[in-house]
Amino acid sequence: MKTTATTTQPDTPAESKPLVELRNLSIEFHSRNKIAKAVNSISLEVYQGETLAILGESGSGKSATALAIMGLLPKPGGVISGGEICFEGKNLVKWTEAERRNLYGDSLSIIFQDPLSALNPVLTVGYQIGEALRKRKNLSKKETKKRVIELMNLVRIPDAETRYKQYPYQFSGGMQQRVMIALALALNPKLLIADEPTTALDVTVQAQIMRLLKDLQTNNHMGLILISHDLGVVAENADRVAVMYAGHIVETGDVQTVFQNPAHPYTIGLMNSIPSDAQTGGRLKSIEGLPPNLAEPPSGCAFHPRCSMATNLCRERQPALEEIAPGHKSACHFAKDVLNHGIS
Ligand code: SF4
Repeated sequence: MKTTATTTQPDTPAESKPLVELRNLSIEFHSRNKIAKAVNSISLEVYQGETLAILGESGSGKSATALAIMGLLPKPGGVISGGEICFEGKNLVKWTEAERRNLYGDSLSIIFQDPLSALNPVLTVGYQIGEALRKRKNLSKKETKKRVIELMNLVRIPDAETRYKQYPYQFSGGMQQRVMIALALALNPKLLIADEPTTALDVTVQAQIMRLLKDLQTNNHMGLILISHDLGVVAENADRVAVMYAGHIVETGDVQTVFQNPAHPYTIGLMNSIPSDAQTGGRLKSIEGLPPNLAEPPSGCAFHPRCSMATNLCRERQPALEEIAPGHKSACHFAKDVLNHGIS
C-alpha cells in the first residue's frame, strides 16, 4: 500500500500537552437483558494540528468512542462505565450536559457520515450553517449571512449567495457534506471528529472532501479524529492510527510504521482485504468470520476465533497493548513474530 506523508505539522508530544486524552475509557450499551461492552479501557491522545485515525470494522467501538467524546452517547442505554475523557486537561466525564453543550462548536465539533439525515430538510442551508453563529456569537442577521457565505466559500460551495437560500435536497451528496463541514467549522473548533465523512461519496468527491478537511486543518491548526474503515483514506490522510477490534485498541503507531510494518494479525487482515495497485483480477481476501457479539465476547484475545495464528494461550489470556518499537504498540501475544515474519 502506498502511504503518503501528510502536509500538516502537528505538535509533537515533546512540544505540547494533548488536546484530548482518553484514559482507560470504557463504554457500555445497556438493554433490557444484556450489556454490550462496546469499548474496553482504551487510552489515546490527540495533539493540536494532528490527525489521528481510528480504524476498524463496524462494531469495533470507533463511533462509540467519537460519540462519548462529544457527550452524545444514545440515552438511555449508552454509559461511560470507566475512565476519563480529558479535553485540555479537564475530565469531561464529570461535567453536566449543560456544561458539555458549552463546548460544542468552538471546542469540539463532529461531522457525521450521512449529511442528509443530519441536516433539517425544511430549513435552508444558510439558516442551518448560521444557527450556531446566531446562538453563540450573538451576530446580527446581516453579520451572520456574511459569515455563512464566507464559510460556504471556504468549503468551496460554488455560487454561495444563491445556494445560501436553497434546501438540502437541492445539493448533491458531496455538496451536502461540504455544508456539514461548514456547519462544523462555523465556530472554529479546536478538535473536529469526522465519523466516516466520505463513506457515502464516490472516490473523486471523497478525495476532494479529504483534501478540503486537510487544508482547513492546516489553516486552523485543529486536532482531527478521523473515524474510518477505509485503509486508503487513513493512509493518505492521518498522522497516527489506532486500530480497534471488539472495543479494544489492538495496534497503534504512526501511519507509515503501522501500514509498512504491521504487528497485529487483524491489521494485516484489513490490509489484505483492500485492492492493491498491482491487483488486476481475482478475489480479495476478506477476514474470515464476523466480529464478535460484544454482549458475549470470546475469552482471551477477542480476535482468536478469526485468527490463523491462534493458540491455547490466545484463547485463555487477553494480550496487553505493549510497545514493540518506539511509538508502535500491538496487543498480540506474538506481535514480534508477526512484525518480523507476517502471519502464517
Ligand atoms: Fe491472533 Fe493470538 Fe495474536 Fe490474538 S493474540 S491476534 S489470537 S496470535
